[in-house]
Amino acid sequence: MSKDVTPKEAAGLLTAASKILILAHEKPDGDAVGSAFGLEFFLRSLGKEAMALFSAPLPRRYEGFWTPRLTRLTPDEAKTFDLVVVLDSANRQRIASGEELPYEELAKLPLLNVDHHGGNDIDAGCRWVDPTAAAASLQIAEIAWETGQPVPPEAATAWLLGLFTDTGSFRFSNADGRAFRAAARLLDEGADIETVTNTLYFSKPRNQQAFEAELLQNEVRFACGDRFVYAVLPEALLQKYDFDMKEGEGLIDLLREIDGTVIAALLYRRGGNWKISLRSKLGRYPVGPAARSLGGGGHELAAGITLSDRPEEEAVALLLATVQRIFEES
Ligand code: 5GP
Ligand code: MN
Repeated sequence: MSKDVTPKEAAGLLTAASKILILAHEKPDGDAVGSAFGLEFFLRSLGKEAMALFSAPLPRRYEGFWTPRLTRLTPDEAKTFDLVVVLDSANRQRIASGEELPYEELAKLPLLNVDHHGGNDIDAGCRWVDPTAAAASLQIAEIAWETGQPVPPEAATAWLLGLFTDTGSFRFSNADGRAFRAAARLLDEGADIETVTNTLYFSKPRNQQAFEAELLQNEVRFACGDRFVYAVLPEALLQKYDFDMKEGEGLIDLLREIDGTVIAALLYRRGGNWKISLRSKLGRYPVGPAARSLGGGGHELAAGITLSDRPEEEAVALLLATVQRIFEES
């Protein structure tokens, strides 16, 4: 069982610790890397030994200025930390702690899980799970503010980037007053918005541009009276443009932005499985419950599923039936 803590209590845990390990979810997005590196910078500014661990290379757009201090850790090495902060992670199997440090080992350590996903199944240590928070970066900034210590500009930048990512630059319905107020405070603390927006929106490599053009031209399909838009990414297309789905953050927005569509999905193969990303534009047609019913997870309007290997037709048929049901039942 996990013990629920308040942001203030979480701040107390950070203040009391001197050597802190920071983890986020696999296939990290801007909120995962932003929350993790922001926390590393903040804790280091307090003179603590803080280290973010990412077990796989970061997406290219973040590699330029953030380098994980750790990419692997054994259980014995992990025991030397007096606190492990797990950020933006709702599922045990999706914590990017690396193969040598599985969840069973992590669960023996003093954990603090800070997350904004409903359906969080991490059952060890302390946790602050707040599905009303727009981003884990927002939560960790709020915890930092609870300590009363100053937030250095590089931490403010990282957390602003996380907040931008998970609110789609304040376009999604999770961009509430709390998110805007936090963004304003982070800017006051010296967050570099130019770095944030250039990193997230103005740094697309040319191979990706060409890949996206062909994807939109040839692979977009509609269903459910054109309210559902989806694409299956052909392996050959990824190869043709040397495009790695590790860089695919935001790709699904190419579909979501099409007028008249409500639910968007992207399907691609990953390690022998099918990976499905789902997004909805309307609160009354949530994709989170449907994703969870198929063993996946995420938020109400942004969720994902991993399906075991099966022919493309079967994966698509299952998805179509699932989305159909969302429209019928809502
Ligand atoms: P994305 O579509 O960007 O990969 O993920 C959207 C949301 O769904 C994220 O909050 C992510 O944690 C969650 N998610 C994505 N894929 C999976 C999955 O295979 N399993 C689970 N449980 N959650 C997922
Ligand atoms: Mn997040």
